[in-house]
Amino acid sequence: MMETKNGRLFFDGCDVTELAKKYGTPLYVYSQTAIERRFDELRRDFLDRWPGSRVAYAAKAFCTTGMCRLVERAGMCVDVVSGGELYTALAAGFPPERIEFNGNNKLPGELELAVDRGVGRIIVDGAHELEAIEALCAARGKRMKVLYRVTPGVKADSHDYIVTGKKDSKFGFPLDEDVIYPAVERAVAAPHVDFLGFHFHIGSQLFDASPYLQAVEAVLELVRQVRDRFGVRVSELNLGGGFGITYTTEERRPYRYYLDPMLERIAACFDALELPRPAVVIEPGRSIVGDAALSLYTVGAIKEIAGVRKYVAVDGGMTDNIRPALYQAVYRGILANKADAAPAETVTVCGKCCESGDILLRDAALPAAESGDILAVLSTGAYGYSMASNYNSNPIPAVVLVKDGRDELMVRRQSYEDLIRNQIIPASLNS
Ligand SMILES: *Cc1c(COP(=O)(O)O)cnc(C)c1O
Repeated sequence: MMETKNGRLFFDGCDVTELAKKYGTPLYVYSQTAIERRFDELRRDFLDRWPGSRVAYAAKAFCTTGMCRLVERAGMCVDVVSGGELYTALAAGFPPERIEFNGNNKLPGELELAVDRGVGRIIVDGAHELEAIEALCAARGKRMKVLYRVTPGVKADSHDYIVTGKKDSKFGFPLDEDVIYPAVERAVAAPHVDFLGFHFHIGSQLFDASPYLQAVEAVLELVRQVRDRFGVRVSELNLGGGFGITYTTEERRPYRYYLDPMLERIAACFDALELPRPAVVIEPGRSIVGDAALSLYTVGAIKEIAGVRKYVAVDGGMTDNIRPALYQAVYRGILANKADAAPAETVTVCGKCCESGDILLRDAALPAAESGDILAVLSTGAYGYSMASNYNSNPIPAVVLVKDGRDELMVRRQSYEDLIRNQIIPASLNS
C-alpha cells in the first residue's frame, strides 16, 4: 500500500504530504484497498472454508459510520460493545440482524436499544444480563439469540491490560460447574431467548495459536457437558478476536495460522459427538484496520538536550494515539516529504500534551527533521482514533479514506466550537 515516488511517501496511490496540506494535521489516513484485502483474505481463508461462518468486525478498533459502511459492503457482520457503537452502525444503515452485541456491563438503555432494533446476537456476559434480556423480550413479545461469553481460564501472552481470558477477569462466566451449568439451564428454559452456544475472547495482540487452542478445548468440553447433562445442542461458537499484527515490520501471521487448528479441533469434536458442525464466528478488530492506516503530523519544535536526547515535537500525540503511553507500544515513523532520505539521527518524537509520557516514537532513526516536515506514523488504524481524547482541549483530528489515488473525508476535524458545544456556564455565574 505504501511506496516512495520522487522522495515522497504515497499511501494507496495518494501523496500523503499533499493530503497533509489539503486536510491539515494531525490526520488519520485509512487505505480502503488495505481493508478490502483483509476482508478478501478472511473470505478466502475462513468464510469459504467453513459453512455458516461469520466475521464480525470488532468496531471498537475503529468505529465510524464510513467504516461500518465498508464492513457492510464487504458482507461482514459487526461486533459492537456499547450503545454508541450500536447507534453508529445503525446510523450507517447496517442491517441489525448482522450486528452482534458484546460488553461486560451493558446498560439497561443499551439492551433496550439492542432488543428494540433487533440485533442478531447478544453475547451475554453474566447471569443478571440474561434476566434483563428475557424481561425486555417478554415485554415486547420478541425473541433474542444469545451466546454466553466464558472465561476459559487461559493466560495469553500480551500486555496485562489487554489480556481477558484468565479466570480473574471482569468479562464473562467463569467455568465453575456451579456457575456455568445452572446458567445454561436458565438460558435454555428462558421462553424468549434462543441459546446458541459459547463465546470467548482471550485477549488482544496475540501471536501464538496455543492459548486459542486451550480456550477451544475448554469450550468443547462445555459443549460435551451441556449435551450430556441437558441435551442442549450447541449450534454456534464465537472465538473472539485478538489476532496480532506487527507495528514495525510488514510481516504478520495469516488468519489461518490461528484458525485452522481451532477449526480442526471443533470439527473433530462435533463429529465425534455426532452433532452437526456449529457456525463459527470470529471478531477481528486490530488485524483488519491496524496496518490499514497511518497518522500524519507536522514537525514543530525541535529541542536537543546535550548528551541526553533530541526531541522532535509534533502537533498531535497521546490525544490521537494513546497506545505508546498506555501500553508502551512501539511504532515506526517516516518523514513523508523526505521519504527516500537515509536515517541521519536518533530522536524521540513527542506530542504537544502536558505529560512527559506523551511520546509517540522512542529512539527513532529518522532523516534530519526540520520544522514543517510531515511525519507519518505507520499502522495506527486500530485503537487510535477510537481512543482519541480531547485532553488539553486538542480537537480530535480528521479521518480521510484513500483508494487508488482518490481521497475522501470520513470524519471532519473537530473545531474549537465543537470542543465547547456541550458546555454551559451555569446561570448563577452569569450575573
Ligand atoms: C476487543 C475485542 C475484540 C477485538 O480484538 P482485536 O484485538 O482488535 O482483534 C473482539 N471481541 C471482543 C469481545 C473484544 O472485546
